[in-house]
Amino acid sequence: MRYSKLLLPTLKETPAEAEVVSHRLLLRGGFIRKLTSGVYSYLPLGLAAIRKVEQIVREEMNRAGAQEVLLPMVQPADLWRESGRWEKYGPELLRFTDRHERESCLGPTHEEVITDLVRREIHSYRDLPVNLYQVQTKFRDEIRPRFGLMRGREFIMKDAYSFDIDNEQAEAEYRNMYDTYHRIFERCGLAFRAVEADTGTIGGSFSHEFMVLADTGEDTIVICKDCSYAANMEKARVKPIEQPPESVDLLECNKVETPGKRKVGAVTEFLGISPKQLVKTLVYLADSQPVAVLVRGDHEVQPVKLGNLLGAVEVEMADDKQVFDVTGVPTGYLGPAGLKIKLVADREVVAMRNFAIGANEKNYHLINANLGRDFEVDEIDDLRMVTPEDSCPECAGRLELTKGIEVGHIFKLGDSYSKALNAVYQDNQGEEHHFVMGCYGIGVSRVVAAAIEQNHDENGIIFPLPVAPFQVEILNLGLKDKAISEVAEQIYNDLEKESIEVLFDDRDERPGIKFKDADLIGIPYRLTVGKKFASDGVVEIRKRADGHTIELSPDEAVRELASMINEEMHSA
Ligand SMILES: [Zn+2]
Repeated sequence: MRYSKLLLPTLKETPAEAEVVSHRLLLRGGFIRKLTSGVYSYLPLGLAAIRKVEQIVREEMNRAGAQEVLLPMVQPADLWRESGRWEKYGPELLRFTDRHERESCLGPTHEEVITDLVRREIHSYRDLPVNLYQVQTKFRDEIRPRFGLMRGREFIMKDAYSFDIDNEQAEAEYRNMYDTYHRIFERCGLAFRAVEADTGTIGGSFSHEFMVLADTGEDTIVICKDCSYAANMEKARVKPIEQPPESVDLLECNKVETPGKRKVGAVTEFLGISPKQLVKTLVYLADSQPVAVLVRGDHEVQPVKLGNLLGAVEVEMADDKQVFDVTGVPTGYLGPAGLKIKLVADREVVAMRNFAIGANEKNYHLINANLGRDFEVDEIDDLRMVTPEDSCPECAGRLELTKGIEVGHIFKLGDSYSKALNAVYQDNQGEEHHFVMGCYGIGVSRVVAAAIEQNHDENGIIFPLPVAPFQVEILNLGLKDKAISEVAEQIYNDLEKESIEVLFDDRDERPGIKFKDADLIGIPYRLTVGKKFASDGVVEIRKRADGHTIELSPDEAVRELASMINEEMHSA
């Protein structure tokens, strides 16, 4: 492709609306343009990168035995009423009424539509298992769409749904997809981890998120440095304490004045103890029911773990007024002794002896309190956030907290949708059973943004070769020099003959502008034809990722590029 013929409007200035690096570079590099809030047009370069990801996704999904379909974007409300999600989904579901007063929505996901298709078309165990996928535009009416392709309202997604006869078959398909996703993201040339993810309160289900590692990621994930354990913060388990605590004499519990000391830091400093010797009492509302949670002073409650323990969907921390209304105690002086609401404790608290707690009285705390002697709790569980001081729950190795961007999610759904929509097949005895389902998503347009978040420098994008819109960019720096222009054209033709995807910068622009644009759009290999060809008969190949350059004759340069690109494309 000739640059002079390509719609590639690069920008010198960074658009003010862009808050994250991928958004800035996609706008500046002329990959996307905003139409309206959270909705983008893909220009040729942006679409080329998306098509690369789609191609890898399709090849690997097909190889895994899935079949491609394309389902409608407009979905009838009645199907969503059957599944119970018309009421539950909330304002992210964009709803509208057509001229016949029929209610519809724009699909944010396709469980209902695919389950309806399968219940109509598949009736026998002989036709199972089946895994159907599509690459399609989704719409979710995010309240505050931000970050360009990272969190748009409209986006391109690959979603797949599997239908199996039983749990065993469904779990085999889940593992198949788990392996397929590993191949997909490896082939995309991305550093990623599959992390255990929370499934909420749906029983018998499990789930993994695929995270592209990037310092700018929104999600914190926990990875083990010594084994393959990885989890998101909601799911990350704390290694149970195996040793019983050393026997320590229980000291006398005393009430002490702590005037105006409400925060952990202030109280422990005043008492001359470590935050590890204090137990915080925090009030949460779990589906509107108050519950007091005990954690060590330096630990944080993980609300999702709390919700799972209590079987609650919505868990939020009570504000000062709610705390007072429920307990009669001002925040900061709350303690478990004598508290009249449900009390749950993190496991770590069980191992503590002679610690400080609030006295349930303004300006007072208790010191040398002990669980079992001074107060009891209703339940004990792993309720806190993992910290880097914890060791791996699998191998006791060292944990690291790192940032990631979720690009894929696989989920064993079980029979919740097939039951809601009464989707059944007949077994070999003629008995009816509900399908056991799984669903598997990849944010295709998000993968492109995540690739940029992970791979860029101050000059622009550094595309991994497999998802780059072009593999090589040729810069002709001697447009007015006949010999230079001829050899640049020759190289362009020769590389295209080798089936290499080439962007040929044949514009009448200064070299400085060509170099800047080349760095900005991040094509993995740059081939420069300029003065060095006139003087020494050589052209320069430069690798965008590490700046490594070599000078070769034009023929050698073509051979070298073809061999480097072939090798890199087939190593993944
Ligand atoms: Zn480990």
